[in-house]
Amino acid sequence: MLKAFCFILNFKTRVLPTVTPGYLRPLIPDSAPEKPDNWTDVMSDIERVIMPGVTHWHSPKFHAYFPTANSYPAIVADMLSGAIACIGFTWIASPACTELEVVMLDWLGKMLDLPSEFLASSGGKGGGVIQGTASEATLVALLGAKAKTMQRIKMEQPELSDDVIVSKLVAYCSEQAHSSVERAGLLGGVHMRKVKADSSHKLRGEALEDAIKKDLAAGLIPFYVVATLGTTSTCAFDRLDEIGPVGNRYKVWVHVDAAYAGSAFICPEYRYLMKGIELAESFNFNPHKWMLVNFDCSAMWLKDPNWVVDAFNVDPLYLKHDQQGSAPDYRHWQIPLGRRFRALKLWFVLRLYGVENLQTHIQRHIGFAKDFEKLCMADSRFEIFTEVQMGLVCFRLKGTNEVNESLLKKINGRGNIHLVPSKIGDTFFLRMAVCSRFTKSEDMQYSWEEVSKSADEVLSA
Ligand code: PLP
Repeated sequence: MLKAFCFILNFKTRVLPTVTPGYLRPLIPDSAPEKPDNWTDVMSDIERVIMPGVTHWHSPKFHAYFPTANSYPAIVADMLSGAIACIGFTWIASPACTELEVVMLDWLGKMLDLPSEFLASSGGKGGGVIQGTASEATLVALLGAKAKTMQRIKMEQPELSDDVIVSKLVAYCSEQAHSSVERAGLLGGVHMRKVKADSSHKLRGEALEDAIKKDLAAGLIPFYVVATLGTTSTCAFDRLDEIGPVGNRYKVWVHVDAAYAGSAFICPEYRYLMKGIELAESFNFNPHKWMLVNFDCSAMWLKDPNWVVDAFNVDPLYLKHDQQGSAPDYRHWQIPLGRRFRALKLWFVLRLYGVENLQTHIQRHIGFAKDFEKLCMADSRFEIFTEVQMGLVCFRLKGTNEVNESLLKKINGRGNIHLVPSKIGDTFFLRMAVCSRFTKSEDMQYSWEEVSKSADEVLSA
């Protein structure tokens, strides 16, 4: 087992594998063995079959997308969860699974200083749940908002049929929102309007209000808006302090998608970026991105979960139990029925790191991003594309998109570090995300040198 971990953390290898599609099938038999294989052979196949096709997300040289978290406490807790192997869809299906989740979401909510209405410990309606992904949280909140608005409109205009109401519903997000937000609209069967962001790529209250007013004038029904705190392309923060009041004024459910950047709110100095949170109905971030809890662990809080619970409530006899109503039955808060014991890994990480070390982890990553930004700015060939606030630097060579596309190709082709690009409007740029918990200053220096050497090659060609 230890050997397997060593393979996984072998940062000397290329970050990106060199295999081509279909590489794996010839390496293993055509069908399952009739008689059992032995452990030694299975484990040695990890090195022979699997590792050549692994992209090393935890290498300090991996800078693509956003991070995915990893830590020993979370790995051990996940193994325990696998060993306990309960399915906690109702309280009685495994009381510890539900009860630890309720308390962990309170611990975590307090770490972010969320308004008390979101916490189960406040004694009100609110509470938290662990979803698998931010995409699911966005969809679940959308379905809750849809149920809430349907009920309101039916009271106000009883002559309208369900079909007519649904056809008029409009949800909103910034043009910079993650693709999962657009998908939530598709899956929820409603129109998702993308509102233009400002010159800093943030969704502003005024632009949202204009869009809502136009839709109301056209007889449509605005019902849901997603504010992104930390967009995927540039880590821009939508102006929740402006979006919240607009949402509340027009009875539009405000959902906050802070998938990556939400972890930074455990540090008090970054909480100004979630100003307006008290006006949101639901809030979500992924400890599995940046808070050292292995995938999957997407924390979601709702001020009034009943809208979601009622939207999904089908109650077959075989899932009923005597204690119904005295603790959450989380099957009503999510899309699937089955659910793993994910709160264990949150519990282990929070206890074995402590809040202070988790804060330090975030602060170090942001510090590394600022160091990289300085290196970039000190080289007159480069420019920074957007303000660096978290662990992401968006940068480019001064000049055409073509030269930047060549730069990216060169960097990834050398294979020593890995980056992905993005494009806003007509401008192509490179994204350098600080991803690994093993990253040190020397690694950022190394990554910068890779970028710089690649630029030398591109510019001299
Ligand atoms: N929202 C934002 C802002 C993201 O950056 C991402 C992924 O990077 C997502 C949502 C989707 O996250 P998940 O894979 O948890 O659905």
